[in-house]
Amino acid sequence: MSTTTQAAVVESAGAPFTIGDVELDTLRPDEILVRMVAAGLCHTDLGVASGGLPFPLPGVLGHEGAGVVEEVGSGVRGLAPGDQVLLSFSSCGTCAQCRDGHPAYCDVWLPANLIGGARMDGTSPVSRGGKAIGGHFFGQSSFSRLAVVDERSAVRVDPGVDLSLLAPLGCGVQTGVGAVWNVLAPRPGSSVVVLGAGAVGLSAVMAARLAPATRIIAVDRVTERLELARELGATDVIDAGRVDDLASALTELTGGGADGVVETTGNTGVLRQGVDALRARGTAVIVGAPPFGTEVGLDVNAMLPGKRVTGLTLGDAETRTLIPALARLVADGRMPLDRLVRRYPFEEIQTAVADMVSGATVKPVLTF
Ligand SMILES: [Zn+2]
Ligand SMILES: [Zn+2]
Repeated sequence: MSTTTQAAVVESAGAPFTIGDVELDTLRPDEILVRMVAAGLCHTDLGVASGGLPFPLPGVLGHEGAGVVEEVGSGVRGLAPGDQVLLSFSSCGTCAQCRDGHPAYCDVWLPANLIGGARMDGTSPVSRGGKAIGGHFFGQSSFSRLAVVDERSAVRVDPGVDLSLLAPLGCGVQTGVGAVWNVLAPRPGSSVVVLGAGAVGLSAVMAARLAPATRIIAVDRVTERLELARELGATDVIDAGRVDDLASALTELTGGGADGVVETTGNTGVLRQGVDALRARGTAVIVGAPPFGTEVGLDVNAMLPGKRVTGLTLGDAETRTLIPALARLVADGRMPLDRLVRRYPFEEIQTAVADMVSGATVKPVLTF
């Protein structure tokens, strides 16, 4: 028997989010039904809505959901009705990457989270008028009052936490944090450069402040973002619109080059500057995603002194370890996520989209 609920549907590439009724399929053994309390809005949602990323439309997006478990499938063991959960990406749990503790690099990551808009068996948990539409986005499609969620997308958190504050932990925050903690792992006295002070970049800044890095440099073109970066832990900021040669400016500021660079803008020119600003044995982490097929050139000889460039998906996080830890840091005031978040009623999803696009809001969170 199907359940009817309200979801924000994108009808076609470039169309707005419109709220209307959809039907949810009955739960499979490894699925849970979640009543959404909040859901963060992320650039990946807009990338899909604009047609820039492969996902079948009409469809339901949303991949930073947070809510309460209403019902669990027959095979679900670690979750029960009434549990508060944060939702993140899905993975198979059995491939070599998953077994190794790197589910963001799961063999079936793309079909399980993005491409196809369906479960691994090809069926969608969401339909309208009896016809399947795109769903199962990151195992959740959480721009919906009720959602059928893949058990592996859900992470239980302590009762009583503010889900509307913690929703962004599932994607944007753990991505920025993971870039610093899981990849750069700054040593005492090292320097971390964060290119782009959006939700991911500012999360990287907050993570760097909780690491023994002593120099944290944020780069952006928006003055308010740079001020916020300072407040969250940046020791230095650079307005990219005011320097001719960003790589030289960074090399000078770090006294010879950066130990670590986190690139969040998706701009290949900025990425190249970040790589050029590395010191010997420095690492640049690519987090920002340009359109599919984009290439970038490197000065090969400049790479020989042990420099590394690495890509990153979702912070390379093991979600059931990282997300509860982040929730604790937020609750204790050590990760002031409230400085990034602005809440919007679910019905005002288009206002939230407009404010994210204009830059007026760093991290919009929809509340249900
Ligand atoms: Zn995201
Ligand atoms: Zn896997």
